[in-house]
Amino acid sequence: MSKRGKLMVLSGPGGVGKSTIVSKLVDSPAFYFSVSATTRAPRLGEVDGKSYHFISDQAFDDLISKDLLLEWVEFAGARYGTMKAPVEEALSKGSNVVLEIEIQGARQVKASMPEAIMVFLKPPSFAELESRIVSRGADSPERIAARLDLARSEMAAASEFEYVLVNHRVEDVLDALLSLATS
Ligand code: 5GP
Repeated sequence: MSKRGKLMVLSGPGGVGKSTIVSKLVDSPAFYFSVSATTRAPRLGEVDGKSYHFISDQAFDDLISKDLLLEWVEFAGARYGTMKAPVEEALSKGSNVVLEIEIQGARQVKASMPEAIMVFLKPPSFAELESRIVSRGADSPERIAARLDLARSEMAAASEFEYVLVNHRVEDVLDALLSLATS
């Protein structure tokens, strides 16, 4: 039987660049990306089953009631959750798994799987984060304002994480994550 893989949680404020990092990380065969379920609408270019499983509120209720989620949250007006079964299957096959999730979900994962490697990704400055959130342009003004408020409070959670990486250069963050997973 192969050695069990490692579970890595990459968290940090929305807009910090987690998904860019993760999309590059999973190019490396060392990682399996857990595709989350969400009730939010797809953004331009997002592919169902790859970026997220885009599902209805009712389907999400179903996942909760059948206890199929490792963690889930309500975030910026939508629900997001990690499916238990694919994560468990990948870990037991020896793959490292990366979860790209926000902070409340990261706390839930740490509580149920304390062996998880917990990484917080920080922006070089709050001003930089703000401009990324605003320039993403896919959300309504109300939603952008809510995301900025959330990002402010999310930044305060960095101290709860074992590892804090500043997203100056994507390549440096990738190197750091790979060495955490393989050490
Ligand atoms: P977005 O709507 O910008 O794709 O994601 C919003 C936030 O939800 C991001 O911080 C992202 O990391 C987080 N997120 C995505 N999937 C999940 C998930 O399955 N669980 C949790 N807790 N957060 C998630």
